[in-house]
Amino acid sequence: MVISVHGHLAHKNMWSDRFWDFVADNYAKSLGIPKKMVVEQMLPQFWKSNAEVFVGVMDGAGIDKALVMGVDWGMSIVGEAEWSVEEMNEWVAKQADEYPDKLAALCAIDPRRGERAVKLLERAVEEWGMKGLKFHPTAGYYPDDQKYFPLYEKCIELDVPLYSHTAAVISAPMESKYADPIYLDSVAANFPDLKIVMVHFGGMNWTLKAAEIMTARPNVYAEISAHQVAAAGMPQYWLTTLRNLLNVPSLLGPPLKDRIMFGTDWPYLLTVMGDDAWVNWVKSIPEKAKEYGLKFTQEEINKILSENAKRILKL
Ligand SMILES: [Zn+2]
Repeated sequence: MVISVHGHLAHKNMWSDRFWDFVADNYAKSLGIPKKMVVEQMLPQFWKSNAEVFVGVMDGAGIDKALVMGVDWGMSIVGEAEWSVEEMNEWVAKQADEYPDKLAALCAIDPRRGERAVKLLERAVEEWGMKGLKFHPTAGYYPDDQKYFPLYEKCIELDVPLYSHTAAVISAPMESKYADPIYLDSVAANFPDLKIVMVHFGGMNWTLKAAEIMTARPNVYAEISAHQVAAAGMPQYWLTTLRNLLNVPSLLGPPLKDRIMFGTDWPYLLTVMGDDAWVNWVKSIPEKAKEYGLKFTQEEINKILSENAKRILKL
């Protein structure tokens, strides 16, 4: 069984025109194609990223279950979208509802929305059945600000986890400094009953920092989406790091091998690796690792691919 704890649905109205303009600029520059081509061909394709399309991708990749989410960019430099943050999250929740055996949804909120954020989370979990709170601090905030503590208290009351992006993998105009995993450490320390998932497991550079935080904070977990980049580009380094991390005992709480989960972050990593390729990559780790003299057990891979997510997130 394969569970991806991180994927996205997208709709044009979910983000502002200014946001889409940045996306078009970024793709045009990185792919070396005219912006007009991105606007006319790529963006309309992207706007079709609904549940039906994603479930088709999951079926092709052999992913049995997935968590899907939006992103609340409204308070960032790109400004508010046509849809309110409530409308965006309700749309994601309703989309996930169409495939109850395969999809579950997270509620994406910028905590700077204050009381409105707390109310939205409550409604999302109680009325729409959403499974947790998702932050993208690169929109411009540090998660450890005490102003956001009421939101964490609400998560505990509702018994849902906080997911927060931790990686220097974000396109302009968003900024990576806010995504340093250290800013989740204070949250974990102040709220030991709050489950925190470090989305992207610190990315390429902050993985060890994220892992070190986990060894002392039993309430912190990680997922490996976006590691497609490191796995594809430096497989020996990535596999050696993963091997070592799976060996790391914890000072407090379960060992790391019981706290690392699989994710694809569809559709954002498609230029590096499709979801089917990433699933197969991780499935074949025991075989691949032999080339570098490393040994992984099937049991360890099963934990990453599904068992940890089942137990930690009750999926
Ligand atoms: Zn994502």
